[in-house]
Amino acid sequence: MANPLYDALIAPRRRAQTPFLHLPDGSTVSHAAFADRAAMLAGALEKMGLAPGDRVAMQVGKSADALALYVACLSAGAVLLPLNTAYTPKEVAYFVQDSGARMLVCSPDDAEALRAVADKAGATLTTLDALVQAAKTAVPCLPVPREGGDLAAILYTSGTTGRSKGAMLSHDNLLSNARTLADLWRFTADDVLIHALPIFHTHGLFVATNIALLTGGAMVFLPRFDADAVVDAMPRATAMVGVPTFYTRLLDHPGLADAARTMRLFVSGSAPLLEETHRRFRAVTGHAILERYGMTETNMNTSNPYEGERRAGTVGLPLPGVDLRICRPGTDEVLPQGEIGVVEVRGPNVFLGYWGMPEKTAAELRADGWFITGDLGVVGPDGYVTIVGRDKDLIISGGLNIYPREVEQAIDAQPGVAESAVIGVPHPDLGEAPVAVIVAEPGAAPDLDAIAAAMGNGLARFKQPRRYLLADALPRNAMGKVQKAALRAQWKELFA
Ligand code: ATP
Ligand code: MG
Repeated sequence: MANPLYDALIAPRRRAQTPFLHLPDGSTVSHAAFADRAAMLAGALEKMGLAPGDRVAMQVGKSADALALYVACLSAGAVLLPLNTAYTPKEVAYFVQDSGARMLVCSPDDAEALRAVADKAGATLTTLDALVQAAKTAVPCLPVPREGGDLAAILYTSGTTGRSKGAMLSHDNLLSNARTLADLWRFTADDVLIHALPIFHTHGLFVATNIALLTGGAMVFLPRFDADAVVDAMPRATAMVGVPTFYTRLLDHPGLADAARTMRLFVSGSAPLLEETHRRFRAVTGHAILERYGMTETNMNTSNPYEGERRAGTVGLPLPGVDLRICRPGTDEVLPQGEIGVVEVRGPNVFLGYWGMPEKTAAELRADGWFITGDLGVVGPDGYVTIVGRDKDLIISGGLNIYPREVEQAIDAQPGVAESAVIGVPHPDLGEAPVAVIVAEPGAAPDLDAIAAAMGNGLARFKQPRRYLLADALPRNAMGKVQKAALRAQWKELFA
């Protein structure tokens, strides 16, 4: 009987003594040992009464056992619901309740605080340690039969533009994308992938892990991003997938150039990579970072090529099997090439809908399969896609559209500027006025008047920020995404 993800990711190396996880304590977990661990955990889940289709919420730190619990859920036919470790019990309560989770797996430290949450939602509370203990005496569970369209996970979006939504992802969704990416990025059993991402998000859990499992390679499994540890791992590794902040931090590390010499591939995504970062990384290491674009609901949609030009500032071309089009906002009218509009995607990677939100699903996932991403983008003459921001971050000032990224790029190019965020702030005359929040380069004091003057030379009047503000840093979440909603809230009274 088939279980698509288990059969592709685990079964082929079920008994292989080849290394899968290199852990920080110097130990290594083989493919066989990892599969055994997952089978025993699946047995423990079964012993606790979990049935196929039940949801398992998990809020635990990154560890080999936490990753094995992902595979255990696949094997037991359960639907995994990984939760951000930063969520408070009140936030966890929402996810557990919303998903109707049968079980909540947490860290021992949080058990007391989450007891009431689990009770109220009618979920069984257990710790990962307790599950591991139970697994020792469990009967290993054989993979439960699943169809390609069965749910593998409900993954909550990052909540950048509003309340997080639970994206229902099937076995086929995850497997098709893993196959495409492994192929496109030339992953093989010889690869050793540096894994420094959290495993509660699509990037670390699915992109990184599924590719490594599918192709039989290994991962240097780090608890979090730490520039020293990553540079230290490079000589034993071949590839890394990361978020843009990984790359900006690595560039501050004196050991980067030497260490990166043996690496084959650096991939970036989850947030826009500055062209400046791409350029500097190439100058220092000789590697052109390969930028790709995706989201919780769809896995990955586009990627720069492995061979061929990895163009800074773009997210590359639609993946094989993924259709991409640009539509006029609020309509399904496809815009001519070169015009900015809402990015829509369609393919085997696109999720089944939002858990428990039929109206939201109907509003964003068209009946003919096109998913309205909410990102604004443009396709170049040669097919390269550029993301210019989010629909919700679009600034409409005096009736005219301002795409923040265009203004941000102009500001970032000014002396002393490390990065910037341009937001729309309520304005009595204009409705919304563009405002620039600027972060200085270390030790620099950018001249705001000079920047304003420079914008006056290069940008149409209506696009020029009405105010320039300095900040120590831009607010970011765990994935390095700039939280523009937080900035808008902070400055909403600026023109009041
Ligand atoms: P929410 O949907 O809850 O508001 P979110 O969209 O940030 O949160 P994710 O699914 O984690 O949640 O992130 C997907 C988004 O990340 C994309 O829609 C896009 O805006 C952004 N993104 C991902 N990769 C890139 C990239 N390479 N360049 C620019 N933006 C990117
Ligand atoms: Mg989103």
